[in-house]
Amino acid sequence: MKTAPDSDEYPTSEPSSVWEQARLWDRDHVWHPFEPHDPEDPLRPPLFLSGEGCWLFDSEGNRLLDGVSSLWCNLHGHRVPRIDQAVRDQLDRLAHCTLLGAAHEPAARLARKLVEIAPPGLNRVYFSDNGATAVEAALKIAFQYQQQRPDPKPEKARYLALNEAYHGDTLGAVAVGDIPRFHRQFGPLLFPVKRACQPFCYRCPLGLARPACQLACANEAVGLIQRHADELAAVIVEPVVQGAAGMVVAPEGWLRAVADACKRHDVLLIADEVATGFGRTGKLFACQHEGVTPDLLCLAKGITGGYLPLAATLATDQIFGAFTGPPSAGRAFYHGHTYSGNPLGAAAALASLEILLEPGYLEAVEDKGRLLESALSPLLGHPRVGEIRRKGLMLGVELVADRATRAPLDPGRRTGRAICDHARSLGVLLRPLGDVVVLMPPLAIRPDEIHHLAHAVVASVHKVLPPGAD
Ligand SMILES: *Cc1c(COP(=O)(O)O)cnc(C)c1O
Repeated sequence: MKTAPDSDEYPTSEPSSVWEQARLWDRDHVWHPFEPHDPEDPLRPPLFLSGEGCWLFDSEGNRLLDGVSSLWCNLHGHRVPRIDQAVRDQLDRLAHCTLLGAAHEPAARLARKLVEIAPPGLNRVYFSDNGATAVEAALKIAFQYQQQRPDPKPEKARYLALNEAYHGDTLGAVAVGDIPRFHRQFGPLLFPVKRACQPFCYRCPLGLARPACQLACANEAVGLIQRHADELAAVIVEPVVQGAAGMVVAPEGWLRAVADACKRHDVLLIADEVATGFGRTGKLFACQHEGVTPDLLCLAKGITGGYLPLAATLATDQIFGAFTGPPSAGRAFYHGHTYSGNPLGAAAALASLEILLEPGYLEAVEDKGRLLESALSPLLGHPRVGEIRRKGLMLGVELVADRATRAPLDPGRRTGRAICDHARSLGVLLRPLGDVVVLMPPLAIRPDEIHHLAHAVVASVHKVLPPGAD
């Protein structure tokens, strides 16, 4: 029987039969997330063998720059010696044990570290294993809190979320989500949710323009919070950047206004920083751009530097206090996952945080973001590029049919997809959100790699959408 060679023996040019076999198994047995699996157009995804820094190496000898951080989670690149070693060291002690009725050092140490670096007041850490579970836990905690608080408010049992929101794919997270393409068919399974308009200046849902609008979108959300305070358990938002909605950057002041309204009207604020957390926006947490401390903070994706599935929902003492008491009081949070707070994941997270917190590391994110944006400037005059929007190292290039009217492209043409496919032939791995090309490289990306990434995107846009053609 054939076995895979060691990683340093991976072939760099010749496809080996081992990889061809893996491809067939993939084709015949793997059900890929978010894939149509069209029998007429079978999927032939790159088969990655190894990674190094910001690069991934496939079975056909291609080297691809990881332009979306392996779906928004990688921070420091692949095979980071310090994280590798931390995971190995932990593996020599304990790979996994439960947090149900048991404790272990990596989770305890990570909880302490997260409390130290999170916005002040979030002193309690509920571990789980991915973004959707972090959100699911936050939603249930908010609901149960309202019933168990010292002055119980069981009628506060609804949520306010944004139009076009994305918070993960489990049913509670889907209920607060609103991306029609992903969520529409599950409608009958979901609980009703109140909606506020997106703070999206390029496509202002209120038809206004800054600064004359005076943040009318925030006023709308504030008005909804005020009007529905009696029935709202919580407001859930992605602070500052609505990622899966298309890298939508909220205008300054929106988050602050919503957070203040939540405080004023006794509604909890859940910040979903699954995408924005851990330096992606240039601050450790996006809430910190506006000095906001949410009541519940959801963290996942970047928490382990992109190594292992781990997540955390941070809560204030006030919330946690409502869940304490003798067993007879029945106040426990009956919710949990087998791999909650996995020790290997926690060890990776601690090592990743050490790197992230090194002097200058976070500060460099904004500089790198600016460099990436300026390297994309050849696209600014392109008739099909509507907007390039960015916060830190989260960047979206929105493609449109007409720059003047901002009319969207026909989604059926899958233009964003075609551009990312072309970029792959130029050595860059990307994944679009409809007709928004997303650039979200590891924070560790170097200037020469930023230029490689930007050049591939500029060339691919020009290739797929030649200026002057229809
Ligand atoms: C990716 C994402 C999630 C879901 O995280 P998973 O780990 O994929 O379950 C939730 N919220 C936001 C904002 C995300 O970007």
